[in-house]
Amino acid sequence: MEKKELIQSLINQTFLHTKKVIKAFEKVPRENFIPEKYKEHAYADIPLPISAGQTISAPHMVAVMTEALDVKDKEKILEIGAGSGYQAAILSVLNPDGKIYTIEIIPEVAQNAKEVLKDYKNVIVIQGDGSLGLESEKPFDRIIATCGCPSIPRPWIEQLKEKGKILAPVGGMYEQELILVEKIKEKIKETNLNFPCVFVPLRGKYGWK
Ligand code: SAH
Repeated sequence: MEKKELIQSLINQTFLHTKKVIKAFEKVPRENFIPEKYKEHAYADIPLPISAGQTISAPHMVAVMTEALDVKDKEKILEIGAGSGYQAAILSVLNPDGKIYTIEIIPEVAQNAKEVLKDYKNVIVIQGDGSLGLESEKPFDRIIATCGCPSIPRPWIEQLKEKGKILAPVGGMYEQELILVEKIKEKIKETNLNFPCVFVPLRGKYGWK
């Protein structure tokens, strides 16, 4: 499949529906975020292995999450699980006047993400435990986790702005559902988007042991 076909198929399946999100998908070359030996599958709607046993999410998963995150202008966004860097690149294009902080716990994976994202000037890759959030840069408009969480870590809620949103796969180690958390007048509203997914587990203090 080619990029154009993949995007059209994501639109047909209603995974993609917002103009600016579609534009971001058109702009970012997914092949740049994939190891040499899998590049020919860059525009198949499947997850692919990257380094250290980790994966780049399937395009439809990135589409659903990016749409649900509902990014406005000039936002401060935190991503937990930089992985290949592809999701961060999409957010970078979507939010050109804002900033994206993306945390990765595996040093080798963080180093690769840093390199592939070096031309995305509004993205900062940090190696560390993202289950703690990023205290030094709080508060955030949006927090997106691309690893499976046993529950939403408390620091993420504390580091979220008023009217901010957290999107995370929450559930068991091998299957999760997408949960959207909104902070409205200091109250927390949780919505299950009823979208089953399979992410690698969140590690670290608030993750799986
Ligand atoms: N967003 C990525 C997909 C990431 S896969 C992409 O677009 O390709 C999930 C990543 O989360 C893995 O690389 C894993 O190492 C990382 N991870 C797991 N627990 C973490 C933690 N506590 N902090 C930061 N990264 C973590």
